[in-house]
Amino acid sequence: GESGTAAKNVAVVGAGLAGSLLACYLARRGYTVTMYERRPDPRTGKVERGRSINLALSERGLDALRRIDLDHSVMADALPMRGRMIHPVEGEPGFQPYSSDGERAINSISRGALNNALLEAATALPNVTAHFDHRLTGLDPKTGEMRFDTPHGAAEAQADVVIGTDGFSSAVRGQLLAHTGLTESLDFLEHGYKELTIPARDGEFAMDPGALHIWPRGASMMIALPNPDRSFTCTLFWPTGGTNAFASLSSPAAIEKHFAQVYPDVIELAPNLVDDYLHNPVGVLGTVRCSPWHAYGRVGLLGDAAHAIVPFYGQGANCAFEDVVELDRILDETGDDWDRALPEFEARRRANTEAIAQMALENFVEMRDKVASPVFQAQKKVEHALERALPGRYVSRYELVSFSTTPYAQVQQRVRRQQRLLGAAAGAVVLAVGALAAFAFRKGTGA
Ligand code: FAD
Repeated sequence: GESGTAAKNVAVVGAGLAGSLLACYLARRGYTVTMYERRPDPRTGKVERGRSINLALSERGLDALRRIDLDHSVMADALPMRGRMIHPVEGEPGFQPYSSDGERAINSISRGALNNALLEAATALPNVTAHFDHRLTGLDPKTGEMRFDTPHGAAEAQADVVIGTDGFSSAVRGQLLAHTGLTESLDFLEHGYKELTIPARDGEFAMDPGALHIWPRGASMMIALPNPDRSFTCTLFWPTGGTNAFASLSSPAAIEKHFAQVYPDVIELAPNLVDDYLHNPVGVLGTVRCSPWHAYGRVGLLGDAAHAIVPFYGQGANCAFEDVVELDRILDETGDDWDRALPEFEARRRANTEAIAQMALENFVEMRDKVASPVFQAQKKVEHALERALPGRYVSRYELVSFSTTPYAQVQQRVRRQQRLLGAAAGAVVLAVGALAAFAFRKGTGA
């Protein structure tokens, strides 16, 4: 493309988490950055109901913030969660630390506050402009000409480079689908999600705020993350349709009865349960895969727009932030040659985003089922003992994903190697025990 090294103006379509961070990074490189966001300015308007209110930020996301000195301001309101608190149907909740030393934590943070902090940082820079109430409806990938719907009618703009950070249902991706050879696949999960609230009780947290709470129930699962106002936001995951599903509960009595059976401790913790259940929307979840992520050295996709994943590893935003760091690094290496940078970005990120997409699906099974089993809990203890015995040599998958910046694809490979070793070790133990048993048997029978 003609944009090449001469690109000066970059349009960032979608001022969500990835878009506002990307604007900060690109502005630091000297670009004139214009952000276009479908919604009104979230710093003045009211927030939409039912988009995840809080999220878990871990090392990858923090690393991206640290590089531009935003970690302190963003982390001021974060609440560290050092492990999982598992709520069984009956009996007391049990705590499972995330790391072998019990100290490392993922951070519960308000999505709105994070987005506002990033927007604030971006728009404070002289070379960043943000246009809200601008929904992209058209894009010519060859020329960088864009069309938007605004409350005042249609608007047009043009940029040397256009980056789509417009999320799961990306309109930029839609335009590449219509005008270029891009192909996509959307794998929707049978499960959707609904948010419920556990308010503060007598001004205090109603549960331990130092943990991510999980109610693993097999067919369904609920989680809760703490908020700075001492409430918790719960997310209930359940199939959207069918008999054992969101759609199966419609009356207040049915809702109360279901929770009393499946989530009995929540009844008392969530006084607005019925109202939340009836009025909060059910969100869909899924994995987006598409290729290529770029066209004509001029248009690119980043974050959820390129590779949305299911939320069960708490990595979507972390991964999107990691995208920003990688693109910035590649622009450094290529001397800001977008013709080379956009394909290189995809070449480096694709295997990693595919790995986290897969690990996120696998973690759903772990969270909704396995965490409740005594065998799993014993395995976790063995794993933490191994980590302590072999520091830096045996590291759990959770730790590598959440507390390191080791590329996701390498995490997957390393965990497979470790599992083979563990399997071999366990196999050796089984053989030894078998040999002993056979020996004892021969002795016992006198054979
Ligand atoms: P988004 O945050 O979706 O931002 C896209 C932006 O583009 C929005 O502002 C949108 O209004 C705008 N836009 C859309 N269309 C247009 C258009 N046509 N024109 C202009 N603008 C447009 N991630 C984690 O790291 N940790 C977690 O714990 C976590 N929990 C999650 C829980 C749930 C229930 C869900 C659904 C997701 C969770 N995620 C989590 C994932 C995380 O929310 C996403 O990965 C992250 O928001 C992606 O950022 P993004 O900027 O790419 O997309």
